[in-house]
Amino acid sequence: MIKKCTKCKKSYPATTEYFHKEPRVKSGLAARCKNCARKRVSEWAHRTGYYKHYRRPPGSRKYRKCPEARRRAIESAKKYKKENPQKVALYNKRYAAKNKALVRKINERSKAKGRRELGDSYMRSLILGRGGIKWGDIPQELIELKRVQIQLHRKIKEARDG
Ligand SMILES: [Zn+2]
Repeated sequence: MIKKCTKCKKSYPATTEYFHKEPRVKSGLAARCKNCARKRVSEWAHRTGYYKHYRRPPGSRKYRKCPEARRRAIESAKKYKKENPQKVALYNKRYAAKNKALVRKINERSKAKGRRELGDSYMRSLILGRGGIKWGDIPQELIELKRVQIQLHRKIKEARDG
């Protein structure tokens, strides 16, 4: 069966591949095609400012104008991760597989930041590289020691090279 979108007037097969489900109508399919439905939501979100306040991913630059929204988004992402660790792990795995170049860029950037600032997470990742210990089991003392070790290596290198 063929169904015509009431918005763009294009015809598509009357299936959920082309139309969203709409249980309130007889056909079970929405009047607008998925493309038009998507466009409509996106236009609405831009018009109402919904994107500005609620839909920014936590790392996004656009949050800079609204730190409160950023904080809320990070909190809610953390909560979700805690409650659904397997779902999040699976999602991250799939996302990484689909966006290899982007993920590599993000990882490199965060590694560079770690190297620069010697943050706890970077220390953890270095300690993990040696194996035999789990991320959450690394005591703070070990992290501090690792940081000192790296600072020491850097000083030695400086003295040697400079
Ligand atoms: Zn359409």
